[in-house]
Amino acid sequence: MRPFFTSDEIRAAVAAGLTPDLFPTTDGTQINLIPNPAGEGYICPAFDSETSHCRIYEIRPLDCRLYPFALMWDAERTHVLLGWDTKCPYMREAPSSLVDQAVDAVAQWIEADERVDALAQNPRLIGRFQDDVIALRTLERVTERVQRGQTRIRRQTLSIQDRGRIEAALAVTAGFQEAPLAAASFAYHYIWKHRLTYTWAELQGHLCLFAESPDGIFLALPPLGEGPIDQPTAEAFRLMREWNGDSSVTRMDNVPESFVPALRALGYAVREKEPDYLYAAAELVDLAGDAYRSPRAACNRFVREYGGVLEPYDARDQTACVSLFREWREQKLGTGSGSDEWANALLDDALGAHETALSAHSELGLTGAVVRVGGRIRAYTMGLWLNQSVFCILLEVADRDMVGAGAFVFREFCRQALAKGACWINTMDDSGLPSLAKAKRWYHPARLLPNYVVTELRR
Ligand code: SF4
Repeated sequence: MRPFFTSDEIRAAVAAGLTPDLFPTTDGTQINLIPNPAGEGYICPAFDSETSHCRIYEIRPLDCRLYPFALMWDAERTHVLLGWDTKCPYMREAPSSLVDQAVDAVAQWIEADERVDALAQNPRLIGRFQDDVIALRTLERVTERVQRGQTRIRRQTLSIQDRGRIEAALAVTAGFQEAPLAAASFAYHYIWKHRLTYTWAELQGHLCLFAESPDGIFLALPPLGEGPIDQPTAEAFRLMREWNGDSSVTRMDNVPESFVPALRALGYAVREKEPDYLYAAAELVDLAGDAYRSPRAACNRFVREYGGVLEPYDARDQTACVSLFREWREQKLGTGSGSDEWANALLDDALGAHETALSAHSELGLTGAVVRVGGRIRAYTMGLWLNQSVFCILLEVADRDMVGAGAFVFREFCRQALAKGACWINTMDDSGLPSLAKAKRWYHPARLLPNYVVTELRR
């Protein structure tokens, strides 16, 4: 558990002995977790692992007092719900009559003036809708108070039916057409819905796509639509500030280079993040010359030893692909390629993204392919068209024990894209991972596409 502390609760916790740097801001935030001194994973720094007690129990935050009850928005984001978290083993065993009795008392407690005020000032105490939290009742008073005074903008939860809306908005947004970033697509975002809650809103005639993490909401793309973005940007930042308070999560992500001069002129801070890698499609297929000697040799060896053939992905391949993902993950962990924590966390998160892409590939507009050896899938990949000449490879997994399987599936998938008109292949960014950057540079990118993050200058 990573509890949220209001500003008053931060002050009290610091007075009780927690160090201030455990809190990213003083304005209400989740506490930073620390490595578990007694084993694996991370724990709340207020937890004393020797005594198994909370060191600030008497003044623990509202978030902890409430648990295993929880506050969350309903799926439509219109009402605040009181629920119970099925991850709590005690609640799973508690008789339902006891839970029923407790619900009344907890609902009454949470709807008292003091708590309702705290929730109105710290709306991030109310989590996103989760399937594993059982909704018990709607909290009308909390809902009304949290919504009162806030910008009357309703953010809609992103669903797969919104694909056409997002793609139409991307198509008319200047700056996304020529050499587009991978993020300029619906599927790029949607496959991470298990980790981030995506919502969208119309602001000043522009479509704004927001992503919500436990730290708060941020714009996943600049405002989409025709015309100047000064007003929608200002309104989006206002909405984020209202929701996030002082949190540094407030930002606009995946901003292409063409937006930067206007945003700088409007007074926003702009910084570069990892660029996308863009390759000439024909070069990836030919693999000619000295520069491509290693990937060419890897492909040749794979063909010689395994004779693989690229086949279109079929929905019936999903189970085999997911099990290959699990094997691949173990191989990466075993060889130390996934030895740093950031890489491991990405691998854990990636399974959900792959499952979504594999199960909803046609609704997401994805093209997929598999390579079978001896009847077993040993590599799979998926991608999408960013425009008529740029194909983006969204995911790729290959058996690491079969030399050349990765190089082969990549070359053959690019060959397929080239035959359908691709001039350029975008393979996304390297997530700041040196091993991934090395693998991407192996293929000699023609260009690195700059990608920016925009924030408000310190207010
Ligand atoms: S009860 Fe105490 S130790 Fe447990 S999560 Fe809350 S603050 Fe941390």
